[in-house]
Amino acid sequence: MRSLVWFRGKDLRVADHGPLAEAAASGEVLPLFVLDPYFFEPARARELPHRMQFLRDSLLALEANLARLGSRLQVVPGRSVEVVARLAALWKVDQVLAHRWVEPFAQERDRRVAAALEREGIAFRLFEGTTLLPPGSVRNGQDAMFRVFTPFSRSCAVKLDAGSLRPAPRALPPWPADVPQPGVPVPSLQELGLDRNPLLLPGGEKAARARLKAFVQGPLADYGGDRDRMDRPGTSRLGADIKFGTLSVRTVWQAAATAGDTARPFLNELLWREFSHHLLAEWPELLERPFRAGFTGFPWREDEATWRAWTEGRTGYPVVDAAARQLLAEGFVHNRARMVAASFLTKHLLLDYRRGEAHYLRWLTDGDWAPNNAGWQWSAGCGCDAQPWFRIFNPLAQGLKFDPEGAYVKRWVPELAELPASQVHEPWKAPEALRRRLDYPGPIVDHALARARFLATAKDHLARPEA
Ligand SMILES: Cc1cc2nc3c(=O)[nH]c(=O)nc-3n(C[C@H](O)[C@H](O)[C@H](O)COP(=O)(O)OP(=O)(O)OC[C@H]3O[C@@H](n4cnc5c(N)ncnc54)[C@H](O)[C@@H]3O)c2cc1C
Repeated sequence: MRSLVWFRGKDLRVADHGPLAEAAASGEVLPLFVLDPYFFEPARARELPHRMQFLRDSLLALEANLARLGSRLQVVPGRSVEVVARLAALWKVDQVLAHRWVEPFAQERDRRVAAALEREGIAFRLFEGTTLLPPGSVRNGQDAMFRVFTPFSRSCAVKLDAGSLRPAPRALPPWPADVPQPGVPVPSLQELGLDRNPLLLPGGEKAARARLKAFVQGPLADYGGDRDRMDRPGTSRLGADIKFGTLSVRTVWQAAATAGDTARPFLNELLWREFSHHLLAEWPELLERPFRAGFTGFPWREDEATWRAWTEGRTGYPVVDAAARQLLAEGFVHNRARMVAASFLTKHLLLDYRRGEAHYLRWLTDGDWAPNNAGWQWSAGCGCDAQPWFRIFNPLAQGLKFDPEGAYVKRWVPELAELPASQVHEPWKAPEALRRRLDYPGPIVDHALARARFLATAKDHLARPEA
């Protein structure tokens, strides 16, 4: 049996990799990664600098890991819908193996690849593995997808024994002598038109394992209390590893689960990720429209000046501005700050959540369609949430509670460094003379007025007969 193992950006590892393990157990293994211009065209790569740097690190590491096992990753430029079937035929493989993605555009890609392979008489097998459980497999009593997280998570817990992980193969067969090797080197950052950003976490399986180990041995024990503190390194920072699959999510689950009860709050967050993937698998249109149908056609405002202030971190609300600047600088934003910033964009500024969603997808290293969409819809009030749509985060109260000394704000908004903790979240209360020196804008909207505006707009919109 000769198998083409198609690595495709959510599974850049050799451990707990179903397609690789299966191929290795059944004969010859031909690993492939396609440099699709959709991501690797320099103009496009420059739009996604953080993800591309992490992806490139991870690809280099995968290439080295496969070489260490005796194999060779072919990195081939072209459109995957064309390259995969062409190489599968040229290489005379019996089957193409890959991991399933849930995104509708990925499913369309897979339909086209499957059709092209079928014409060549080659089997195409998709494996589960980007989620803990197969999307579609967690159902309520009516055999429907859950619309609320808590019962979904309970139902997952019943099904989740996660099984044993598949270790990396001990060795892989060498590249067959009669098979051409059209691969090119992994493009350099320079070829992609990017400069290395030293603030990004390094990609690759080894770095990911080290992060997982450090988290399980350290912050995991206090995660339940610390996870909301923007000023503490209390979360795992494994988002990009899980997104790019340098760790399988099952590996993360199992490593944390060994800690017993203290791991529960962390495992619960992995289930939020799970939920977002299962939602998107069930309702692929979620990337285009709100989960709560009543929000369709919502009268979001068009306002370039406030949009720019939000993206550049100059709204005059310190936590919102810290989040905006952290995103651009290091491709990461603390979850609590993501929620505050997203709520502010949609509710205080009344700007379309889809703009924020696209901005985050562009700049987050862990940017991933399902959890990003779910996070934005949840924050905008139109998503899958047991809470009513009219909850509105108060950025000041959030700052005081989850960044009490102002350390998070001061790190990302250094203009406020000289303010005492008591004023850092409300710089407008600083003495006049000090305020003038700060080079920091006043609030671009008044919290109470903005809150009332959102509530009135949403109430009106949701009162329409068709809503
Ligand atoms: C507006 C908004 C946008 C978001 N965009 C993304 C995104 O593009 N990609 C992404 O992976 N997460 C996204 N999240 C969820 C969450 O903010 C990040 O997963 C988390 O901050 C990553 O940091 P961490 O790895 O330290 O998380 P930890 O707290 O250590 O959590 C561990 C893992 O659990 C998962 N997770 C944690 N919280 C959530 C959550 N609320 N929803 C779904 N999965 C979760 C992630 O895989 C995360 O790496 C978004 C949340 C919001 C509010």
